[in-house]
Amino acid sequence: MQAQNPCDSASTTLLAACTTVLCLGLAACSPRSNPPAGAADATPSVQQVHAAVAQAADLSDPASFADARRGFIAAPKGQIKDAAGAVIWDFDSFAFVTGAAPPTVNPSLWRQALLNNQVGLFKVAEGIWQVRGFDIANMTLIEGKTGLIVVDTLTSRETAAAALAFARQHLGPGPGSQAGSQAGSQAGSQGGQRPVSAVVFTHSHIDHFGGALGVISAQEAKARGVPVVAPVGFMEEATSENVLMGTAMGRRAGYMYGSALARNAKGLVDIGLGKAVAYGQVGLLEPTVLVGKPMQELSIDGVRFIFYNVPGSEAPAEFVFALPDLKAFGGAEMMSHTLHNLYTLRGAKVRDALKWASYLDASLQWVGDAEVVFNQHQWPVWGRERIRDFIVKQRDSYKFIHDQTVRMINNGLTGPEVAETLQLPKVLQDHLNTRGYYGTVKHNARAVYQFYMGWYDAHPANLDALPPVEAGKRYVALAGGADKLQATAQKAFDAGDFRWAAELLKHAVYADAKNKPAAELMARSFEQMGYMAEAATWRNVYLVGAQELRQGPPDKGLPKAALLDMLGQTPIERFLEAMAASLNAQKAGDTRLRINLVFSDIGESHVLDLANGVLHTRKGMPAADANATLTLTKPFFLQMLTGTAGAKELLLSDQTRIEGSKLDLAKFFSLLDKASGTFPIVTR
Ligand SMILES: [Zn+2]
Repeated sequence: MQAQNPCDSASTTLLAACTTVLCLGLAACSPRSNPPAGAADATPSVQQVHAAVAQAADLSDPASFADARRGFIAAPKGQIKDAAGAVIWDFDSFAFVTGAAPPTVNPSLWRQALLNNQVGLFKVAEGIWQVRGFDIANMTLIEGKTGLIVVDTLTSRETAAAALAFARQHLGPGPGSQAGSQAGSQAGSQGGQRPVSAVVFTHSHIDHFGGALGVISAQEAKARGVPVVAPVGFMEEATSENVLMGTAMGRRAGYMYGSALARNAKGLVDIGLGKAVAYGQVGLLEPTVLVGKPMQELSIDGVRFIFYNVPGSEAPAEFVFALPDLKAFGGAEMMSHTLHNLYTLRGAKVRDALKWASYLDASLQWVGDAEVVFNQHQWPVWGRERIRDFIVKQRDSYKFIHDQTVRMINNGLTGPEVAETLQLPKVLQDHLNTRGYYGTVKHNARAVYQFYMGWYDAHPANLDALPPVEAGKRYVALAGGADKLQATAQKAFDAGDFRWAAELLKHAVYADAKNKPAAELMARSFEQMGYMAEAATWRNVYLVGAQELRQGPPDKGLPKAALLDMLGQTPIERFLEAMAASLNAQKAGDTRLRINLVFSDIGESHVLDLANGVLHTRKGMPAADANATLTLTKPFFLQMLTGTAGAKELLLSDQTRIEGSKLDLAKFFSLLDKASGTFPIVTR
């Protein structure tokens, strides 16, 4: 079946809406052919690697497949569309993921892709259900006294609404039907079916809250007093995580998630944690109950929750929770069926492996006598012994990577050397649920190096090394010219030494972006590396690299309005930090300007001071000696930032007023860079 990529639709709203100064670090789409132009078959050397992988482990893994199918109630069909009719999610697009692994996919990754393909509504335990495969994450539903407690709301409004509607359709009115029919006139309860009685956000990543407004409107949540529960720090992290670095992260996320790849055996098959990310409207509900203590018990719609805060593990604000009366435990995203990321390839601050391992260790107590652990990605684990094993193996994987990397650093090894050397012990490798489908041992080891030692490996030659293009030109000259370099790279390719081929060709393509034969051979090398990779994220990175070598980086023009619901909740300070970091200092030279920004709707003003090529901003009374004072509303400000309002609107809108020098104000805005988020990665 021909897969449809949501990015093909011009009207689709994308998460990676790159804007003047902000962008969300999830994914970027670009035009692509389907199947990818020039995609080759797997070479014999790749097929040999696959055969060895299949031999080394029992990939039939009946226990995981049984867990992933356990409690199945119903599977969805067709597509989820937005209000304009654009496809947000296509349930059939991964229908090709079935049967034996094709030669172009690592068989271990294929096992994961098959497991993540078990989509639908599932019963986890009495009074607990999960909707899986409507987005990258799961929506968990817990039966409360008066309605459904929704744990996490997926990435986009459309997929969240569809997931809840699907569950309601199959769960029926339930024991709370009295309350349900009383609340039946409200938007949060459809046709007398179970109303939403609480919303719980497990952590501050967007795939767990972005679809909140598809579950219940802010007005209804307020009117009915529906509690919205989140870990301490949730709001700050959720609204600001990607504002400052979003443009670059969004561009790089396109590599990791492979959103511009065709969905077929030579393209996107999985992303390790789930099938794909949904591209729809993103919003947020402000929490009404923040869990601030390390351990805190709350009764939510009659259900006893014991929350445990685990900040700084998988997310800066996150909790897990026990449901002691239901003998169940929610592991949020601190637990999953893959080695997770200590460093995420889209680019982010590295995570603390020791902290993560220590929370997992504590979880062995927190789970109590739970008979099931369910997480916000993938399938649950049942049985006390298996739960213990599931947690222990994850704990020990992170701790092993941490401790052994530190040991090697103290013995003088550098990041690439640790990555090349470090291997989990066989007993951990054999536990397929901690294999590297999303994070990998290799890139997590380098994360530990970075966490403690930073970018410098202490070798003087690397202190001030030549930048890529300069080095590339000299290496090409050393090789005796591009043709000779390519001949050597071809030999490496033919021998299955794709890493060396890519290393050589990188110099040729950097030295001369027009060298098409070198770019094509590098694309072919990346392709084989992608086919070989066990990690979905590595596969996607290589295959997107290959695609961009053939087709170029994505063009501009990503829609931006999808984020406005969420950005409305982001403090002005976060945008001003991003604005300061978009100042083109070279252009600014010795310009000195003082601008007042007065937000008439929220009663807030900020003074912006430009001098010495630096923009300082501070909240406070407008300065009397400012060059200009711009009075505006926050929605208008957001329109400016997301590019939906420009200079003309600024001058003509009834939401704005300018006092002082319009010329100075125009000059100020002209000094801010407008990063398109389409910068080249595999070329220069
Ligand atoms: Zn997640």
